[in-house]
This record gives sequence, C-alpha cells and structure tokens, in this order.
Amino acid sequence: MTIHEFFFPAGFGSVGAREAKNGGDCRLSPGESYLVLSGDEHRHLAFAKRLRVGQQVRITDGAGSWAICSIEKISSDSSFLKIKETGSAERELVPVTIILSVIKKERMEWAVQKLSELGISRIRPVMAARSVVRGSRERLNRQQARYQKIAVEAMKQSRGSWLTVIEPVATSVQEAVHAEKDINGGKKVLVPEKGAESLSLFNLLSAGHSLYPVTVVVGPEGGFTSEEITFFQDEGAEFVDLGPRILRAETAAVVSASALALLWHGLSTA
Ligand code: SAH
Repeated sequence: MTIHEFFFPAGFGSVGAREAKNGGDCRLSPGESYLVLSGDEHRHLAFAKRLRVGQQVRITDGAGSWAICSIEKISSDSSFLKIKETGSAERELVPVTIILSVIKKERMEWAVQKLSELGISRIRPVMAARSVVRGSRERLNRQQARYQKIAVEAMKQSRGSWLTVIEPVATSVQEAVHAEKDINGGKKVLVPEKGAESLSLFNLLSAGHSLYPVTVVVGPEGGFTSEEITFFQDEGAEFVDLGPRILRAETAAVVSASALALLWHGLSTA
C-alpha cells in the first residue's frame, strides 16, 4: 500500500506553535510528539484523500526531515497526527536553477510541475522582453505562490523530502541572472539558443561534475531579443543547442533539466 505524503514546512526540530511559510497553516504541538495539519494539507488529507483515524501518513518539511505518523483525530479544520518515527533524507535535489521566461499559464504550470518532479533546486520565473503575459507586482506574487504550491504537490507526489524553491518573478532577465549570481557568484549560466556559436548540450555534458551548480535561462515563445543576447554574452554565459528542432519553451526547460538531472544522479552513483 502506498503511504500518502503531506507537507509540514516548519521542520520537526523544536517545540511550539509555528506558522507555515508555504503550505498553509501547520503547527507542531508542545511535546513534539504530535503534528497538527490545517489549511490545505488538512483538506488534502481529510477530504481529497479521505484518510481515516488509524491510517499512517508520511510528513516531510521540504528540507530533508520526514516523519511517519498515525492519524489520531480529524476535526473539521485540523488533522491531529501522532509521530511514530522521524528521520532525515539525503538531499535529492539537483544543483540546477532554471530561469524560465513566463509563458502561457497552463504551459508555465506544466513546466513548474515537471521541473519539480525532476528535483531542480530552484525555479526563477522571469518576465523576459517578449513574455506575452504581464502583470502588477501583486499579480506576480500570486503567481509565485501558485507555482510554489504546484512544487509542493509535485514533491509529495514524487515522494521527495526536499522542496523545489520558487523565487519571486523577476521583471527582466538581467534582474533574474543577477539575483541568481548573488546566491552563488561562480555559477555557470547556460542559455539554450539556436545559433552558430552554440555548443551542443551533449558536448557540454562531458564536463561532468564541473558543470554544477548551473543556471539555465530559457526564453519565451518569441525567443530572446538581441539586447538580451548581448547581456548574456557580457555575463559570460554559454549558449547551448538542444537539437535540430525548435522546442516550445516548456519543452526546452524540461529537456535541459532532465539531461542535467540524469548526469548529476549518474555522477553521484558512479
Ligand atoms: N521563436 C523562437 C523560438 C523560441 S522557443 C524561434 O523561432 O527561434 C523558446 C525557447 O526555447 C528559446 O528561447 C530557447 O531558449 C529554447 N529552445 C527551443 N528550441 C531550442 C533548440 N533547439 N536549441 C536551443 N534552445 C532552444
């Protein structure tokens, strides 16, 4: 029987009530042997999955801690779980950030789901010059929250213990690349782009370990503008060719991420 997974973002380490950052309102009860799920996670357990008292569930905090719990009580707004066993999982995320130009809603959400399943560490959405979707800061923040929720669902579905982080939606590729470089200065930046000076992704992969950590910047349906290309050149980014066919933006993102994830997992088990 498969055990259902739920998200409790506060971690299992300390005592007291805590506010959840990403997944709704979850609390760790004093004494540490109980968890209380409310908000989305409670609704998911009680109404979507229709789990019952006595059943076991797996809880993860998205940062490597997990707990096996039994359901003690379900009320209208909370699920009370008794912790049976706890542990920590090795980081299964791949040291890859995808900076993804904002594209149509459904395609963007599909990409976020697939990139999260693959265990990409970070996704940074960006309004590229030719992104067709525009919005106020408030709308962009709502999008970020929505993508983070999709990433949580994907982690649970994939039995992950580490959560793909969705960064705030950047308003230009310059802002996105600089924000990423601030996190890890020496990071390599790859830009999938067809062109004479592009290297094939296949050849790039022969660099092995030294490729990571790596950031990949994927353009919108209309591609990057010449100003954006010049910016990437000035930043010392490398252009990569993903093959003879022009892929949709979300496909280009998932193809790049899968190749980098497969290589990473291959290198770590070799
Ligand atoms: N309108 C553009 C295609 C944009 S596709 C054109 O006609 O050329 C959206 C994004 O996917 C691109 O900006 C690029 O980052 C990526 N992409 C798609 N196919 C690719 C390929 N074969 N090689 C490299 N990058 C690709």
